[in-house]
Amino acid sequence: MSRPLLGCIADDFTGATDLANNLVRAGMRAVQTIGVPGQALDIAADAVVVALKSRTLPPQEAVAQSLGALRWLQAQGVRQVYFKYCSTFDSTERGNIGPVADALLDALHPDGDGFTIACPALPENGRTVFRGHLFAGDALLSESGMQHHPLTPMTDPNLVRVLQRQTRRKVGLVPYDVVARGPDAIRARFAALRAEGVGIAIVDAISNEDLLRLGPALAGLPLVTAGSGVAIGLPQNWRDDGSLRPSGKADRLPQPVGLQAVLSGSCSAATNAQVRHFRAAGRPCFALDPLALASGAQGLDEALAWAQRQLARQDELGPLLIHATAEPDAVRAVQAELGVERAGALVEQAMAALAHGLIARGVRQLVVAGGETSGAVVQALGIAQMAIGPQIDPGVPWTAVRSPLCPQDTLHLALKSGNFGTTDFFDKAFARLLEEAAR
Ligand code: ADP
Repeated sequence: MSRPLLGCIADDFTGATDLANNLVRAGMRAVQTIGVPGQALDIAADAVVVALKSRTLPPQEAVAQSLGALRWLQAQGVRQVYFKYCSTFDSTERGNIGPVADALLDALHPDGDGFTIACPALPENGRTVFRGHLFAGDALLSESGMQHHPLTPMTDPNLVRVLQRQTRRKVGLVPYDVVARGPDAIRARFAALRAEGVGIAIVDAISNEDLLRLGPALAGLPLVTAGSGVAIGLPQNWRDDGSLRPSGKADRLPQPVGLQAVLSGSCSAATNAQVRHFRAAGRPCFALDPLALASGAQGLDEALAWAQRQLARQDELGPLLIHATAEPDAVRAVQAELGVERAGALVEQAMAALAHGLIARGVRQLVVAGGETSGAVVQALGIAQMAIGPQIDPGVPWTAVRSPLCPQDTLHLALKSGNFGTTDFFDKAFARLLEEAAR
């Protein structure tokens, strides 16, 4: 099997999917792994994204996990490493962006200090960097709401200063006027900064064109650290040196098989609208009641028996939905009775068990709504690797996975975080898969 070219380490799960989705759209076949795999990659890919949950860990633990991911990626033969963090540079005074970047540079440059960039710009989502200052839309980062983040409050918009507090290397800047002049000017600035002893350079970028100008200047750099935006400029480097074949089929997944279902444990506004829309279209829906589940008045066997009857008539009825999704008042009532944590855990465990039961009943195309809910389902299905396929809506691609629960078949899985997707997302998702199958 061909070796992957780009190895990525993402500091959270949905950020990993965001990056993988960008790489696929830019023409690289991408695989996402859940944590550091215990074995070699067994899906052909041009890029691999290891999804960690290291953003708010103590720095030492984040470093240890990131180095574990690096060793595994090196064993897969990757030629460049990409440390992915949030486009709002989410970090504390101590890290983890600086400590992880330092540790990766040390590991990749045992004989010297090494050099890398740091650039969270994601212009598509309004995250831009100018004169080293990060903006979210029209607001400086520190006035964007991020200053109130419960875990990683961002009170300083000057990334040179923010990063300098987290790293022992000297931090410099590639300012906008240099970026605007293109790859040669950027390379020359890198050389000048290195001569001044700079180890990490913040790079200005306010548009995708800037990121595409930055891309060629990053060719051959062992480590890139960035949000998901910088990824759009990298695939061209591999095309230019002949290691990435031009192909319009990076998002090709195996043919879908089996029955279709949706599990929704998200109570976000967008998901509530999607559930209402699906129900109004006359699709089969089953509402879980957390209080009845807790008291034993409702059992998962009841939900699965219902599902079995719907699945038997899927040709006529279409995909089914089982949801705990509820409006804020109902959620508050459940939380008042059970407590926030117990209510959450109860519903997540129920979703995990239902996913298990649906796979046992022949479901092979599954949409899961909710970030935490998706985590619980992915774990319950024993999934280690996800091949990233076509985008359904921004940030939500179909993926193809292998599960020990159905070792003979490919399972198609779409994980939708709460506020993503249009109102008709559930039907749109299955329609998209059908379109792909016909491609
Ligand atoms: P989102 O991506 O929308 O934030 P998550 O799955 O991450 O969705 O989080 C939703 C949380 O709410 C989960 O812990 C889930 O178990 C819990 N939950 C789902 N339905 C209910 C409900 N009816 N009452 C209380 N909690 C619920």
